[in-house]
Amino acid sequence: MSYVYIDGTFYEKENAKVSVFDHGFLYGDGVFEGIRAYNGMVFRLTEHVDRLFDSAKVIALVPSVSKKEMEEIIIKTCHKNSIRDGYIRPIISRGVGDLGLNPYLCKKSSVICIADKISLYPKEDYENGLKIITVATHRNYNESLNPRVKSLNYLNNILAKIEAVQAGVKEALMLNPLGYVAECTGDNLFIARKGKIYMPSVHSGSLDGITAAVVAELARKRGFEVISGTVSRFDIWTSDECWLTGTAAEMIPVISLDSRQIGDGKVGPIYRQLLMDFRYLTETTGTPIV
Ligand code: PMP
Repeated sequence: MSYVYIDGTFYEKENAKVSVFDHGFLYGDGVFEGIRAYNGMVFRLTEHVDRLFDSAKVIALVPSVSKKEMEEIIIKTCHKNSIRDGYIRPIISRGVGDLGLNPYLCKKSSVICIADKISLYPKEDYENGLKIITVATHRNYNESLNPRVKSLNYLNNILAKIEAVQAGVKEALMLNPLGYVAECTGDNLFIARKGKIYMPSVHSGSLDGITAAVVAELARKRGFEVISGTVSRFDIWTSDECWLTGTAAEMIPVISLDSRQIGDGKVGPIYRQLLMDFRYLTETTGTPIV
């Protein structure tokens, strides 16, 4: 049996329901996180809750719980579902309102937490690498809906995903309105080129990825220079290695972009090394589920 937390109560999965008048449902007005638990510990819990509250602040959404309470809710939800290795989805929605947009007419935000399993890509994709394409749908312009806000409105990314799937690939590279690389639909991007590692900065229109920060830190510990800045498709096409990072996908290699083979077209040594470091870190650190 699996249980979902909604505003102070655990409901069996089948009975976990929110109102159709919740603005999270009506307008995508809300924020969320995707968090993983490994080996009985929640990985980077504080960072995820901080980002959740930053996202809420930017959309002027006042959570009905404190950060500390949110952390407790996440741990409790894992515990209730006997999660040792799994995926956790806390959500703060604007709450119930009327059919107009005005969020100030929604009296109280809602806090929801789901803990389950997730598997985005089959094992072969991690062993062989993904072939991806650039899509026409740009990542949102920073001053429309800033991509750093992890909002319940993922249509920008979904439109890009549709283009990828229609073209017969699993993931899409999204550019920002200036034509520089932002990120993929649910993952940040890294490249390795001549022994240095590059990633698009958050100002390029990407989510401030928590996995990306961890991987950048691991790379620096290995002695690599990691440069966060402007990345173009040229840089990726001519890179030696490329991989994506995200809580759900973890680290997945990319072996071609727009039919241009990356490096020798095989999963590279820097990726492999960092993946091992990442695996060790996730298995040995985190907030215990007790
Ligand atoms: N970009 C987008 C658009 C995402 O949805 C995600 C996944 N949450 C990421 C990047 C990766 O972020 P993180 O490593 O914090 O999961």
